[in-house]
Amino acid sequence: MAYAHDTEVALVAAAALVNTLVSAERDDHDPLATRAGLDAFLTEYPYSARIDGDDRELREVRAMRPRVHALWTAADKDAAVAVVNDLLRATNARPYLSRHDEWDWHLHVTDPTQPLAEQMGAEAAMAVADLIRADDLQRLRICEAPDCEAVLVDLSRNRSRRFCDTGNCGNRLNVAAYRARKASAS
Ligand SMILES: [Zn+2]
Ligand SMILES: [Zn+2]
Repeated sequence: MAYAHDTEVALVAAAALVNTLVSAERDDHDPLATRAGLDAFLTEYPYSARIDGDDRELREVRAMRPRVHALWTAADKDAAVAVVNDLLRATNARPYLSRHDEWDWHLHVTDPTQPLAEQMGAEAAMAVADLIRADDLQRLRICEAPDCEAVLVDLSRNRSRRFCDTGNCGNRLNVAAYRARKASAS
């Protein structure tokens, strides 16, 4: 089943946000360590919220990451529902339809005056609410590479995505499998 464009965009951005946290924990490299890092992230994943550009906003976004991560690590659907509802409440989500620039009617989940971190959390929660309503939560996945905890959202038609796109995990494993085959053949 296909999701609304804004749902897919929100899921991809949420996964990217969570993976900055995974990277911080795994490699000791946090792409959101600095304000410049957040600005670079926002260039790649634009949000329509107000952007203050200060360190407080950076702290709020960093603090939002574990809460968005919890959408991926929830033990089951009921647990995910609890995370979604908590997040919608905590971010003061107030959905409404909007049409601007080149975009036809789509959902905005927070008011443009709300802080950036609230928009990030609310849009992630609302998009996951879409998955839950379609009983399709299994599209939120953790990378299957053995040493990788990165999250991914599998939007492929046949749900075939297994690896994240942060560390080139798919290629890495393909090369390893190829070498193993070659070694056992010789
Ligand atoms: Zn919009
Ligand atoms: Zn990976």
